Amino acid sequence: MRPYILAENNWKTIKETRYEVAILPWGACEAHNYHLPYGTDIIEADHVAAEAARIAWNGGARIIVLPTIPFGVNTGQFDVTLDINMNPSTQLAVLRDVVDVLNRQGIFKLIILNSHGGNDFRTMIRELGLQFPNMFLCSCNWYQAVDQKTFFENKDDHAGEMETSIILHLKPELVRPLSEAGDGAAKKFRIGAIREGWAWAERKWLQVTSDTGVGDPRKASAEKGIHYFKAVTEKVSAFFTEVARADKNDLYV
Ligand SMILES: [Zn+2]
Repeated sequence: MRPYILAENNWKTIKETRYEVAILPWGACEAHNYHLPYGTDIIEADHVAAEAARIAWNGGARIIVLPTIPFGVNTGQFDVTLDINMNPSTQLAVLRDVVDVLNRQGIFKLIILNSHGGNDFRTMIRELGLQFPNMFLCSCNWYQAVDQKTFFENKDDHAGEMETSIILHLKPELVRPLSEAGDGAAKKFRIGAIREGWAWAERKWLQVTSDTGVGDPRKASAEKGIHYFKAVTEKVSAFFTEVARADKNDLYV
């Protein structure tokens, strides 16, 4: 039983422990090229949250990791079989209920640990911050915590070298042989401003990629996954600890 994982604990322990920060890992259920499981983002969210919380807990931070939300925003993948879309408005409703519980029970800090590029909690945090002024709400994308270039040859947007390496490290039994993976080649927008990144539109996924991947997975290895996972979880745990120590009424220098 890990004391920082809510689902593994019991009322006897929970009622006697004073938690400083709740972590809400948020994944997605979607196709990841031909070789990775639909639960890739869920597996990543579970493991990054648990390992980062373990390090932070051992350093004295009182962290509690809530169960991972398994469905993310997959509006662009509407035609990919069994990609289960959860609309942003539904996510806001779920998040509001979780924040309401924490606020009522005096756990005034929440970190959403996001594992999926289609999820964006920033506008929700703005809205819920108005409704729950005693709460410190924040989100982080663990896949942006560490520069991927240091660890991988090919940039990974979805099911590429980074994600494949992580799953080869965490759940190798769920990865099909890399010889069966597509090359993750993806089309870009014709519109220049969107390509440059200062304008944005959603990609219709199956018009962009034929194997559902965006990023070449074929140079992935478990070895790369080990090093990257360690670097990410150390950095995320430092963030957890910093939030736990922070005075929410004195956040600025
Ligand atoms: Zn993913």
